[in-house]
Amino acid sequence: MSGIDPEPAIVCEQLVRIYKTDALEVQALQGLDLRVAAGELTALVGASGSGKSTLLGILAGLDAPTAGSVRVAGRELAGLSHRDRLLYRRATVGFVWQNPASNLLPHLTAAQNVALPMRLNRLRRTARRERADALLDSLGVAHCRDRIPAQMSGGEQQRTAIATALANTPRVLLADEPTGELDSETAETVFEGLRTANREHGVTVLIVTHDAAISGQVQRTVAIRDGRTSTETLMRGAAAKPGAHAAAEAFRAVEYAVIDRVGRLQLPREFTEVYGLRDRVRLTHEPGHVGVWPDLHETQSPEQEPQDANQDGGENPHE
Ligand code: ADP
Ligand code: MG
Repeated sequence: MSGIDPEPAIVCEQLVRIYKTDALEVQALQGLDLRVAAGELTALVGASGSGKSTLLGILAGLDAPTAGSVRVAGRELAGLSHRDRLLYRRATVGFVWQNPASNLLPHLTAAQNVALPMRLNRLRRTARRERADALLDSLGVAHCRDRIPAQMSGGEQQRTAIATALANTPRVLLADEPTGELDSETAETVFEGLRTANREHGVTVLIVTHDAAISGQVQRTVAIRDGRTSTETLMRGAAAKPGAHAAAEAFRAVEYAVIDRVGRLQLPREFTEVYGLRDRVRLTHEPGHVGVWPDLHETQSPEQEPQDANQDGGENPHE
């Protein structure tokens, strides 16, 4: 990787995507903000229907946002011409989808699958072959080079798919639940493949996953909720102790809320419920941090009996 890149690999600002079908309108993305620095490996998590695949489709250049801006590797995607969009998909991004079968052409061998995108970039035949072999080797699937997908396991197919996605040296690799159909041991090998793409090939990687084991291993996990980024969990390194359990103890997960450009912040429900935060809150300056207080004037106004306030606060039957 080449030093510090001042332009993040991915910048989404106030992304909106509305799907319109006959009578129905679905707001899949509702003003999503996301920045991913060049060289990062980030996991994206969120409930089903929260907008993860919609976001990846837009980043992949397969779909366009209804509003907002999205820049990948310094390119604004919103106004790309058809031709530039094709070039973008061919050379700037690579993707790996959940279903192994849909990532590879079934009648081509692993080596042929990896070499195919290079043809679009007019690489010479020997150069294509050498690069395909090198990629298969670096992803640990050199033994599959002459096999067609039906002769490979799901994990081998996904690692070959990663090699194929890397064929044209993309800046960003997108993976939508790439381990969703694999058992956990196989999933680990695919995840290792994505790490290899990130570490050895210098590609920025964004992985959508339900797999807690994966999000526990990456530096940064971004949570999407209702079409917006809601929280981020960063693995913060502590002073690593030498010894058998050093790796396990070296990091701890710290969860952050996301604050957007104009200062908007979404508080997780576990905070709003426990502290009775709603409608409005009082903010106070505290040494080195901000205090967020329930509006006590509201619940304990002088005209009210304290019991009213208690009843008020007690009508939240979440247990
Ligand atoms: P996720 O990948 O997080 O499960 P999606 O991005 O697939 O979420 O979907 C987000 C929302 O948009 C869902 O409510 C889904 O039903 C809706 N949606 C996704 N794709 C379409 C589509 N092509 N047409 C209409 N609605 C869609
Ligand atoms: Mg999805």
